[in-house]
Amino acid sequence: MIESIGQDESVWSNEWGQLTPESEIRMWDFYGLRHWIAKFIPRFGKTIEAGCGLGRYVFYFSEMGIDIEGVDFSESTIDYLNDWKKKNNFDVVFKKGNILKLDYEDNSLSGYISLGVIEHFIEGPQKALAEAYRILRPGGIAIISTPSISFYIFAQKLKKSFKKVVKKILFRKSKPETFYQYWYRPGKLKKFVESSGLRISRYGSADLLFAFCEAGYYSEKYIKEGTFGYNYSTKFENSFLNFIGSQSITISVKTAEKMHCFLCGKPDANLDSLNIFDVPVCNECKNKNDVKYYFKSIVPKYCAPYVINSPIKPVSKCECDFCSKEYLSNEIFENYGFEKNVCKDCLKIPEVNIKLCNEFIKPVWRKRTTEYE
Ligand SMILES: [Zn+2]
Ligand SMILES: [Zn+2]
Repeated sequence: MIESIGQDESVWSNEWGQLTPESEIRMWDFYGLRHWIAKFIPRFGKTIEAGCGLGRYVFYFSEMGIDIEGVDFSESTIDYLNDWKKKNNFDVVFKKGNILKLDYEDNSLSGYISLGVIEHFIEGPQKALAEAYRILRPGGIAIISTPSISFYIFAQKLKKSFKKVVKKILFRKSKPETFYQYWYRPGKLKKFVESSGLRISRYGSADLLFAFCEAGYYSEKYIKEGTFGYNYSTKFENSFLNFIGSQSITISVKTAEKMHCFLCGKPDANLDSLNIFDVPVCNECKNKNDVKYYFKSIVPKYCAPYVINSPIKPVSKCECDFCSKEYLSNEIFENYGFEKNVCKDCLKIPEVNIKLCNEFIKPVWRKRTTEYE
């Protein structure tokens, strides 16, 4: 039998034990999916991140007033997070849990986020997806990503199979492999998600920059401003040429005749709204200004080029672009990764954060390190 380390709790306790929530927050665009998550995370009802690791998005989205809980199966990680959040005055819930058997009622949640988790099950992602389907309420949104076969992974795999063939020819035995994860192309991930009963609104490749980052052994060698990797990623991240990107992502909806509306939370959205929009929208909200971001033709996108290894912004006086109030920028979140200044109060208003997440996301890539404290 192949040993599966992706499902071993101690592997993850170890992995997360070497980092801190703060360093993870600082490098939130190390994985380039924030434009997808920020656009589609529900603003009404409760969302969970299943397999939250050090909780970077849980902290981030809770700052937007989103009711989000983090679930992870590493007990030491959850203990550490609960400790850290107290010290830093965050009012967020983290729970130990098994994503194959979550401690939430049927049809109870408006959002399910899973980023780089379900590919670690050697038997496949079906059970985890069935559980996501179970707990989502009608109109609930699932945001699910896995690693994809980027150009770099493709080359690695090719090299490996070539080595295997050579060994066979030389009658040498290959070492038994340890299973860590699968890589699913977007089409494959889409099929898995669909077979759980969820309806796909949008799916695709993302995160070109990470593929170049991997090729440079997780350094900034091939992604520095001015390099080919940087230029290609910046130019094509929002186009079909991102198909060689490092991640696959799907946005899907639990459908029913009547669903909770994405823009107001009321259970009044009709099924046919999904023919026009990526999310369920009720008749009343079809006249809202924000609806323009959710037409099927509108692609999630970064609104500015990547900034690589940007120095950390010291706390400074700012003026909110939405209410003109003066405020101090956040010590950990800086300007929350947007091109606009926003105070803590305005950030919590759905209309404001929906606008920011659709028009003003500025990706800031920072390497993975604990030096940021
Ligand atoms: Zn509505
Ligand atoms: Zn404000």
